[in-house]
Amino acid sequence: MKKFNIGLRALIPFVCVMWSMPSFAKLRVVTTLPSYADIAANVGGDEVDASSLTKGTQDPHFVDAKPDLILKLNRADLLIRAGLGLEDGWLPPLLTGSRNGKIQTGGEGYLDASSLMSLKEIPKGVIDRSQGDVHPGGNPHFMIDPRNGAILAKAVASKLGVLVPAKAEYFQKRADAYIKDLAIKTDAWKKILAPLKGRQVVTYHKSWVYFSDWVGLDEVGYVEPKPGIPPSPDHIAKLVILMKEKHVKLILMEPYYPKGAAEQLAKLTGATLLVLPTEVQGDDDAKTYFGLFDSLTSKLARGMVP
Ligand SMILES: [Zn+2]
Repeated sequence: MKKFNIGLRALIPFVCVMWSMPSFAKLRVVTTLPSYADIAANVGGDEVDASSLTKGTQDPHFVDAKPDLILKLNRADLLIRAGLGLEDGWLPPLLTGSRNGKIQTGGEGYLDASSLMSLKEIPKGVIDRSQGDVHPGGNPHFMIDPRNGAILAKAVASKLGVLVPAKAEYFQKRADAYIKDLAIKTDAWKKILAPLKGRQVVTYHKSWVYFSDWVGLDEVGYVEPKPGIPPSPDHIAKLVILMKEKHVKLILMEPYYPKGAAEQLAKLTGATLLVLPTEVQGDDDAKTYFGLFDSLTSKLARGMVP
């Protein structure tokens, strides 16, 4: 018994030190999109717990600001968001409610992904929201180009390294490996999609402009008259004429919009309508950022029309 007590006493200081060591707590990364969370989880490895506020089957412009999202933000060490107004409809009140100074705009735990990217559709002159355009500052759907995933992985490694300097090298190595794998896969996806170069398409929302630029698709029109504005019968009628004139035979659509107008458009023009994921978890095959492009390429390759 005496022997046991001595052993236990010897253990107490060790247990206390272990208990108080901050390195046992994982860094909590909260993101507005699942692709950011997947990349942060890959770069952060065992040191990071990453989760997204939205699902890949949700329209990222319109998200229910539920109280459990405030709790997640309250506990976050790092917030990764798209910026460019993508989350303006729902994130600001959640951020205020979180009472977490670290993740507020410009805080040490704040990363605006749009600040890293080469952006498209930046408006010239005065920004106009009067007609409900949800892309007032430019197109925020840049993660649909895998080259931008590599840019994000690099920035996440730097940011995590600032937050946990002792692990900076670990994050850097993981990011380097991830970027290397992603580059190999990016070349492979591009090869599969090569026959689509120059193909004319109509898309529902302007979710695909970075993807189209990467693949070489020619976007000739949109089911929405403006980003975030549902189609009117008049707009669909004009689009039918345009698609017939130009012989457009492919319509791309996100999983989270009502399908009626796009189905009608496909029927009237004889075009193929493909509903494809735009984000991680956007369909059953897109479980990761790599999976998103595996899913996109295989479904597009299958849906290719002459
Ligand atoms: Zn959008």
